[in-house]
Amino acid sequence: MTWTNYHSHSYFCDGKFPPEEHIKEAIKQGLIAYGVSTHCPVPFPSTWNMKMDEVPQYVKEVREAQEKYKDQIQVYLGMEVDYIPDVVGCSSDFIRAAKLDYTVGSIHYVDQFDDGKHWEIDGPHNIFLAGLEQIFNNNPQAAVERYFELTRKMVEEDCPDVVGHLDKIKMQSEDGVLFNEQQQWYKKAIEATLETIASANVIVEVNTRGIYKKATTTPYPSPWVLEKMLDMQIPISLNADSHVPNEITKEFAPTAQLLEEIGFKQIHILYNGEWQPVAFDRNGLKP
Ligand SMILES: [Zn+2]
Ligand SMILES: [Zn+2]
Repeated sequence: MTWTNYHSHSYFCDGKFPPEEHIKEAIKQGLIAYGVSTHCPVPFPSTWNMKMDEVPQYVKEVREAQEKYKDQIQVYLGMEVDYIPDVVGCSSDFIRAAKLDYTVGSIHYVDQFDDGKHWEIDGPHNIFLAGLEQIFNNNPQAAVERYFELTRKMVEEDCPDVVGHLDKIKMQSEDGVLFNEQQQWYKKAIEATLETIASANVIVEVNTRGIYKKATTTPYPSPWVLEKMLDMQIPISLNADSHVPNEITKEFAPTAQLLEEIGFKQIHILYNGEWQPVAFDRNGLKP
């Protein structure tokens, strides 16, 4: 089936394989374009961000694959760029210097513990609970509102090409106990964020990783958020957030079906060097 995927990880961060292995799988599956989006370096210890001194090798490997496979697939060099105010973002010097083809901007870190350690909101649940207690006084509303506030700040001040997994923080409360999407304050936080996104005219990815990792039952963003996005004419892309080659289009068919049912007619792909809308259905793109 004809798809694209621009959110993918490799052995340069927390993936397992070289970018080339993913690209070969993409060719095998008939994808028309593939983007590699390694987690960007951050200036503090991290187990899953790329190391700063590996950036040149990363750029070299992806650019070589781009050339090597250019008759079979369009390969794009990207990064999933963390946004941490005054620490890292798409306009950081080292990001600009890498001359990327595109960026996915994501919030994984929300504020800091007393010892200065950055709090990861999409890691193990015990880390989530620790930050909730120590940074937000066990107030889930304050933590979640801060997450969306940072998302808006990223879009307003350091806008990526694509907003990554918009509501990923929901994975920490799948049972709806800590917080849930029916709460008025949650809806308000989403609505405010969508207003900012619509003003910036930035693409929001529909990310299937939560579903196939069984962290969530719905994509990021949730169907009700996607309905609002359609009303607000916010452009979408469809991404797997793959970490191994067999994940590069996981859950795409049912998610595309969901998007069709909601009423989306087009998704945005990076093709011939430009983000552009294409028609799709559950069986793939219709370029
Ligand atoms: Zn991410
Ligand atoms: Zn990712």
